Amino acid sequence: MSKEMKLILATSNKDKVREIGEILDGTPFKVVSMREEGLDPDIVEDGKTFEENALIKARAVHALTEGAYVMADDSGLCIDALDGAPGIYSARFCGEDSTYPEKFKKIFEMLKDVPEEERTAKFVCSIAVVRPDGSEFTVRGEVCGVLHEKPAGDGGFGYDPIFYVPEFGMTTAQMTKEQKNSISHRGKASRAMAEILRSEI
Ligand code: IMP
Repeated sequence: MSKEMKLILATSNKDKVREIGEILDGTPFKVVSMREEGLDPDIVEDGKTFEENALIKARAVHALTEGAYVMADDSGLCIDALDGAPGIYSARFCGEDSTYPEKFKKIFEMLKDVPEEERTAKFVCSIAVVRPDGSEFTVRGEVCGVLHEKPAGDGGFGYDPIFYVPEFGMTTAQMTKEQKNSISHRGKASRAMAEILRSEI
């Protein structure tokens, strides 16, 4: 394998590119975004699972390259009492244009008859990698928590203010980036992916 291998991320989210870049530091992989590579595929995320959606994105970008390593992720919040909803629809829950406070309100309305001890949830992240030869793998990371009726914390994004992690005594929005990364679904999946890539070089 050449000294520097490009790993193209099927995202334009700069934070994700930076985060994955840090995790793969010290390996021959140079993490770049699809935009940096001038790639802008039309992606219809119509999978039924996090894994399927991550693969759909990674394959769409891979198809535009002449054989590169491509990585994509898909993530969301799964609430046990709602049979795993919003799950793969987390970003679109309550309508694409709804705010997170609106999403939180809707969730707590739906959970109004659910006792507090049953308000458990998990964040899930699936990462898919397509290799230059078209072979693929996926890895999954999860973090368990409970829903915190009162949003707390200004860090993170999305559902972080209502995702309380008992072991830390705080929501993921109250954690430092390092704390969240050490336990998060995305952190775990990224490290699992890095482990596999490292073993291949
Ligand atoms: P995506 O996989 O980056 O598109 O994320 C899907 C959606 O899941 C996000 O828009 C958020 O609503 C939710 N989500 C995923 N990861 C997190 C997280 O770490 N904190 C809070 N919300 C998250």
